[in-house]
Amino acid sequence: MEKPNFRTEMLRTLEGKTPSQIPVGTFTTAPVLELMDVSGAARPEADSQPEKMAVLAFSQYVNASFETLRYPFDMVVLAEALGCTIDPGTKAKLPAVLKGSMEISPTVPELPEDLLERGRIPAVLKATEILREKAGSNLPLIVGMEGPADLAASLCGTTRFLKWTINKPHIVKRLVELCTDACIVYGRECLKRGADVVVIADAVSSPVMISPDAFRDLIKPGMSRIPKALGRGKSVLHICGAADPIIADMAECGFDGLSLEEGIKDLKSAVHTAHESGVVVIGSVSTSRTLFAGKPEDVKREAFECLGSGVDVLAPGCGIAPETPLRNLKALVEARNEFCGRNR
Ligand SMILES: [Zn+2]
Repeated sequence: MEKPNFRTEMLRTLEGKTPSQIPVGTFTTAPVLELMDVSGAARPEADSQPEKMAVLAFSQYVNASFETLRYPFDMVVLAEALGCTIDPGTKAKLPAVLKGSMEISPTVPELPEDLLERGRIPAVLKATEILREKAGSNLPLIVGMEGPADLAASLCGTTRFLKWTINKPHIVKRLVELCTDACIVYGRECLKRGADVVVIADAVSSPVMISPDAFRDLIKPGMSRIPKALGRGKSVLHICGAADPIIADMAECGFDGLSLEEGIKDLKSAVHTAHESGVVVIGSVSTSRTLFAGKPEDVKREAFECLGSGVDVLAPGCGIAPETPLRNLKALVEARNEFCGRNR
């Protein structure tokens, strides 16, 4: 049987149309050690060298049979470009913020005019061009970045950011505006260079971090600007943890899809709420419990549950741990194949 065009299938799915089968892949980071070994592209080089970044992203398709090319593999590219000090990490350790730029100088910065030339942004843009060339029009390029609240928390320090949402909301508003603008400028350029989908991942927006009211008042207005500003490019919002109380708000932001993790208490009703707003749902197999620590049959069992709850794209719920076994990623694809074969 001829392989379907995975890019067309994914774009159709994100438009709310019915694909020939439910797509499977990842919208969250997937820097798996076994993929680094088989592809010959490992971090930390794959975090900053465009050719290696592209090879590691492509191995998600070649070696795990995922129908997505998701890159880069960490969540601090914008933070670094905005002046945060970064620990570059190792093969098994993701780059992370050591010190926020506002911890050194506490005023809310302006958006730098040369943002796109800063830090590793040029590397991600170059990797986008390489991947587009390599994938042609057959596979979707999914570029991820930290969302406005995550970026704000990186700039001023997470503890301070969380305190400010309570006692200095006016500063949070200004900071979130700046971070939203940074996401938009960077996201638009990624799309221009050939990316198909921009994923905004915002762990700090989760109800486990800030209250649903703080999300609505302080984050949602900026978040809602992003999909519109990305024009015809597709966009997906990922928020971690039990996001149940803000699903309707997330759906109202205007993204094409919501990426949800296993912390969601009622996936079926989250899917229902999203679908009512014409938004698709991506997820939600547990990365920490099942993909990382489970056996392939556990992955399949949970994948069937997600598919049974009505997810539109079968995917890991959150970022995949580097030590996750490759066989568990493949089990995700097998689960989709079995499910779709069974329901045909
Ligand atoms: Zn997450």
